[in-house]
Amino acid sequence: MSRMVYVDGAYLPEGKAKVSVFDRGFLFADGVYEVTSVLDRRLVDFEGHAARLARSLGELEIESPVSDDELLEIHRQLIARNQVIDGLVYLQITRGAAPDRDFAFPDPREVPSTIVLFTQSKPGLAEARQAKVGIKVISVPDMRWKRRDIKTVQLLYPSMGKMLAKKQGCDDAWMTEDGFVTEGTSNNAYIVKDGRIITRDLSNAILHGITRAAVLRFAREAQMEIVERPFTIEEAQAADEAFITSASTFVTPVVEIDGIALGNGNPGPVGVRLREIYVDESRKSAI
Ligand code: PMP
Repeated sequence: MSRMVYVDGAYLPEGKAKVSVFDRGFLFADGVYEVTSVLDRRLVDFEGHAARLARSLGELEIESPVSDDELLEIHRQLIARNQVIDGLVYLQITRGAAPDRDFAFPDPREVPSTIVLFTQSKPGLAEARQAKVGIKVISVPDMRWKRRDIKTVQLLYPSMGKMLAKKQGCDDAWMTEDGFVTEGTSNNAYIVKDGRIITRDLSNAILHGITRAAVLRFAREAQMEIVERPFTIEEAQAADEAFITSASTFVTPVVEIDGIALGNGNPGPVGVRLREIYVDESRKSAI
């Protein structure tokens, strides 16, 4: 069965879905996206993702072609039509296809935004192998633009970081700026020292992770101590444990940074516990 995708108001088999070669997402990376995970056919943290999408669009003055209610309905339709049990829904909205390639934005009254959604099935998403064994990361300089709070589709540098990690037999890269870790290529970064969870404070330097917000809320409810401040790679290497969060990896332990094993080299108890809480709570609150 061919996967059904959503493009500008229509549900189509993936092979029939088309976007213009003049689309500004294609030509200028002029677009934003969201990834919402699906557990047991239901959406995790949908409201948070919808709110961040609205903010990203607002910052770039891109019109949303759909209301939040329509967005939820499209997500649900795609999950049902593609029989997704565990996996994710990817959403992208771009500034649309102007008549010619031009750096200046087209008038939104003349050029409608493009909206695309598709699903990716990931059976057993919550039981991923990496959650059990942890991941190895390398550090790379953060060479992205400075508005990382906007979830744009300019993902070339993070892709390069990920490839560099893979070439070195690792799983991902943590990016550093002015000596401090900003975040992972597609996740937020945390360390744990003496029972304290340390993660970079929110600013334009990082994406405001929806999973981050939920995990920190659960950690506070479990009386864990949280410090929101930047940390260095050296501090991370000397930490008791480390982990990442994102919609598609939930909470995943980091067991090695630039070749240095953390603690005893196994996933640490705080990350493992937070993952359990996050997955349990997400299953309960998913819609
Ligand atoms: N930082 C970056 C750079 C990301 O790409 C992502 C995931 N898209 C995250 C953090 C995590 O955000 P979320 O928890 O909302 O998936």
